[in-house]
Amino acid sequence: MGKKSSAAVAPDEAYLEAVTEKRIRFFEQIKDRQAREHAEIGGDPIRITLPDGAVKQGKRWMTTPMDIAKEIKSSSRLIAQVNGRLWDMTRPLEEDDCALKLLGFDSKEGRDTLWHSSAHILGQALESVYGCKLCSIWPCTKTKERFYYDAYYNDVTLNDSHLGRIQDKALECFAARQPFECIEVSKAEALECFAENKFKVEIISELPEDEGITLYRCGSFIDLCRGPHIPNTSFVKAFACLEASSSYWRGKENRESLQRVYGISFPDSKRLKEYQDMIAAAKKCDHRILGESQKLFFFDPLSPGSRHFLPHGTKIKNKLFSFLRQQYRDRGYQEVESPNVYNMKIWETSGHAANYKDNMFVFEIDKEEFGRSTKRSLVLSQ
Ligand SMILES: [Zn+2]
Repeated sequence: MGKKSSAAVAPDEAYLEAVTEKRIRFFEQIKDRQAREHAEIGGDPIRITLPDGAVKQGKRWMTTPMDIAKEIKSSSRLIAQVNGRLWDMTRPLEEDDCALKLLGFDSKEGRDTLWHSSAHILGQALESVYGCKLCSIWPCTKTKERFYYDAYYNDVTLNDSHLGRIQDKALECFAARQPFECIEVSKAEALECFAENKFKVEIISELPEDEGITLYRCGSFIDLCRGPHIPNTSFVKAFACLEASSSYWRGKENRESLQRVYGISFPDSKRLKEYQDMIAAAKKCDHRILGESQKLFFFDPLSPGSRHFLPHGTKIKNKLFSFLRQQYRDRGYQEVESPNVYNMKIWETSGHAANYKDNMFVFEIDKEEFGRSTKRSLVLSQ
């Protein structure tokens, strides 16, 4: 990473401005039209039941979960659940009667929504600073408590020296208290909105003709997304850009090479500090660093992911294997060996592909994908 990078990459300002203005004009026209439609059909009384059994009165297509949160002075205001379905806090309620639950950062749904929403702001910062073409299918939250946004930068490769600018821009967007606003559009309208971005056009083109497509606006940024999101960016008080890496469009090596930027966010700076301390502590215990510093093994770029064991490392490894073999024999097992590499079909059956494909060594032979397990397995049969 980094051979073609430049921290001074400048976006095409005129292009960015034209595209941004066009999308905002497009968004606002549809938002006004939908607001008029909702005003025409809205206003009927509805009953809203809270988890403690209390019933609140509201107006159909007008009352929002945020109105109820303010009425009952609830501090859980990141995301709502309406009849079991996640719902934007600022989205009007549509049904005659509903069960409403309000969720904050202490819930998984609240955390995921805050991180997902933050991924949009990371995208906004990337587009604004580098004029890149954003191309995550839906901004993604990963299992390791962080999120990312993929983008195409022509021939630019990002590295750590770019992260400061991205972080500053994102922090500016968070502080601007940008609301998340939603419109529903047809497939043709979505294609028109993102005509300048071939990646989004590719995604939209594959959707069924009658698919309900939602677009979200946050500040000057408009993105294709199913939602839901936090009400506005002020709910994020702490954000950090973590790292940049490379990826491929749709995970395919024969498609465009993308840059992936990871970030993390929290509703307060104390939690960000705890997160950063935890990451720093984990790094100190990283076996790849410990093993190299204690001269047990080393890695070489010509065989990434496969270690070369040094004498002391080999001794320890053999000792551990002897211990394991003895234990298995004591329990009546015999040793067999399995291949290191399998067709991806087996990893799809095992569930590894769905959960860990990003971290697997995957390659193609004769147009079929193969994957290597993370380590040589010692399998025994009884
Ligand atoms: Zn989203």
